[in-house]
Amino acid sequence: MSSDRIKIVWIYPDLLSTYGDQGNTIVLERRAALRGIPTETVNLRSDEPVPADGDIYLLGGGEDRPQILAAQRLRGDGGLARAVQSGAVVFAVCAGYQLLGHEFGGEEGQLVPGLGILDIRSSRGEQRAVGEIVGDVAGELNVPRITGFENHQGVTHLGAGAQPFAKVTHGIGNGDGFEGAYSGRVLGTYMHGPALVRNPGLADLLLRWATGTELRPLDDSWAGRLREERLQAVSG
Ligand code: GLN
Repeated sequence: MSSDRIKIVWIYPDLLSTYGDQGNTIVLERRAALRGIPTETVNLRSDEPVPADGDIYLLGGGEDRPQILAAQRLRGDGGLARAVQSGAVVFAVCAGYQLLGHEFGGEEGQLVPGLGILDIRSSRGEQRAVGEIVGDVAGELNVPRITGFENHQGVTHLGAGAQPFAKVTHGIGNGDGFEGAYSGRVLGTYMHGPALVRNPGLADLLLRWATGTELRPLDDSWAGRLREERLQAVSG
């Protein structure tokens, strides 16, 4: 944390926010406030420079063409890559996840250069993956089983520099039996939803990374009830 507050930078809501991903910002603000940690959120338009002093950068999902435009602008700006080198936390969903990698598939299947922040490559798959997704998170992250909603055409292959975020038990995810990827404090996922509303443990992982401290547990019984309901729905 660079100051007495967590600075959250929501990258390009004018391009990457088609699936209610703003909820992720609200959850981080709220869960920090309940621990007495102030936050400041910047909604960064795509014609503005990426600030260097963010603690958590959020990227949402988007359709193919806004995704390509976002990747071009972020590559030209360079600020997100520099922030990652300085230790910032990045949480990216779907289109935002894909564009963190080396390349991803555009609307005609053409390969579009990404930012190369995560060692992943995405391409356009045969079938669209739409529906509920459930997975068991990599043990070292200490996050309970995740549930979410996915809607994407892309498939994602991890290189040696990225770890799978979760092992899929229901749904598609990357297309290789796993869902999402992480490296250091950069984490990408196919879960829309918004993901952090449904998975408060994941929100707390990002806050732990940003603050460098353990956080007081909160009453998550409502989110727990929703998770049980979704788990029952996919198993029945
Ligand atoms: N355009 C990308 C895909 O279809 C991302 C979609 C999304 O963000 N939901 O794979």
